Amino acid sequence: MIATNASFDRGAAGAAKQSRPLFFISDLHLSEALPNTVTAFEHFVEVTANEADSVFILGDLFEFWIGDDILDAPSSHPRAAFARRMTRLMHTLSERGIGLYVMHGNRDFLLGPRFMKDAGAMLLPEPFVITGFGKRIVLAHGDGLCTADRGYQAFRALARNRIAQRLFLALPLDTRMGVGQRMRTKSEGGRMAGAAPKYDVTRKAVSELFIASHTHTLIHGHTHRPAMHREVEGVRWVLPDWELDVAAPRGGYLRLDEQGLRALPL
Ligand code: MN
Repeated sequence: MIATNASFDRGAAGAAKQSRPLFFISDLHLSEALPNTVTAFEHFVEVTANEADSVFILGDLFEFWIGDDILDAPSSHPRAAFARRMTRLMHTLSERGIGLYVMHGNRDFLLGPRFMKDAGAMLLPEPFVITGFGKRIVLAHGDGLCTADRGYQAFRALARNRIAQRLFLALPLDTRMGVGQRMRTKSEGGRMAGAAPKYDVTRKAVSELFIASHTHTLIHGHTHRPAMHREVEGVRWVLPDWELDVAAPRGGYLRLDEQGLRALPL
């Protein structure tokens, strides 16, 4: 269940190279419809990240990803130009020697090998344990921890099923775009209902993850309830979502360095 990659431990976050911090973000929900959020991400990649050893994106970077073939669609195709622009932007991180690790969220779980290659990113399985500055940390998007929402967990199992994914990817791009649009509209409603306890992580799922991963620190996103919780088994950090196209803009990131973890504004 828990993947620990030894070479990763050495390269990105191991003992040999501890001076530059690790940054964690999630739930940017990037789309061409949210220009200020996109601008904030551009600033984060081009300026903020320069200090970092690596950037970890823990899911829902994009509002929806209908398949890597969007990267080959003509620029006249809505979203193709945007997808390529964001991918090119992320690739500049590796050009500057900054690692980029991407985990799937519940909206962009179709980000595939072609995207990873073009973005200069490495896909992380979920959950994933890293070691940075002597601290073992388990990373997750967080939707898998919301086990009180049975209907959603059933959808999640289907959405992450490879056969179901292959069937979806075999549909024409425009059909997939329509499905993405409808899911987006539906989850806007879901976002409103987000305050109900059903849409938060459960004590049981969090406890099981801490125990299975042999860690005492968890970082996840998804719930849009940024906080630092002291749980029985360890500390649970919840990443903020980014939304800069509203009256009260929000967003932020976590930074891990020799001082430990801390939440910072954009
Ligand atoms: Mn999510």
